[in-house]
Amino acid sequence: MGYLPWLSNKIVTRITDGRRDPGGGADGQKFDDGKSALRANRKIYLTFDDGPGAGTLRAIEALAAVGGAASFFFLGSELDALPGAPELFERLADGGHTTGLHGYAHLNAWKHSPREIAADQERGLDALKRFDSVRWARPPYGRLTPSLVRWYKSHKLTIAFWDINPIDYDSKKSGRTRSEIIEFILESVRPGSIVLLHENSAVWCDGIQDLAHNLVSDGWELAALPVVSGTAGVSGHLAEAEAEVISLFR
Ligand SMILES: [Zn+2]
Repeated sequence: MGYLPWLSNKIVTRITDGRRDPGGGADGQKFDDGKSALRANRKIYLTFDDGPGAGTLRAIEALAAVGGAASFFFLGSELDALPGAPELFERLADGGHTTGLHGYAHLNAWKHSPREIAADQERGLDALKRFDSVRWARPPYGRLTPSLVRWYKSHKLTIAFWDINPIDYDSKKSGRTRSEIIEFILESVRPGSIVLLHENSAVWCDGIQDLAHNLVSDGWELAALPVVSGTAGVSGHLAEAEAEVISLFR
């Protein structure tokens, strides 16, 4: 039990920006206390795992078309295989996007030794930090162990989970078509939601335009996970993480 209280404070599944959730849903109907409150609570965070690749560019273009931004959790192996990585990171920066670490070879921390996992993360971090400052991390498969949590902590990385998972990586498991995935997200997002997506998902990678357009039409602001320069780990306004993440460890 010793590490659970620490985890509950350090894993971010939703960013509430320190404000209380006024109780509004995706339709925004319950935000009846003025426009500023509505606007302040309309940020949501799309996150894309497993790139970079062709999907990164598609996402950048789709988000640019609606004035939105997102966050990308990159694999060192994909990064090393990508020609033109410097140009990609320029485009990411221009669009206000942020990146995070997803390891090197997508190893499952529950199936490899702590030493293998640490080496893999280290290698991924070395690849990513050639291009970007790294503040965020997300373990492959969402699998954490106490030693991986310690590794993230020692590298001053904030762990980003999610509160919305449309299971876009496995159409059999989710039973959802592309339009059903989009529908699910539109119906599920709340203020500050972090949405788990995979940019190479065969199910719907071309659907990013539809998703971005529909979310913005519903009044959501598509934002990148914030990177606060000079601040390591969870900064003040990110300190509130939802407790549902604890259920992962029961
Ligand atoms: Zn992944």
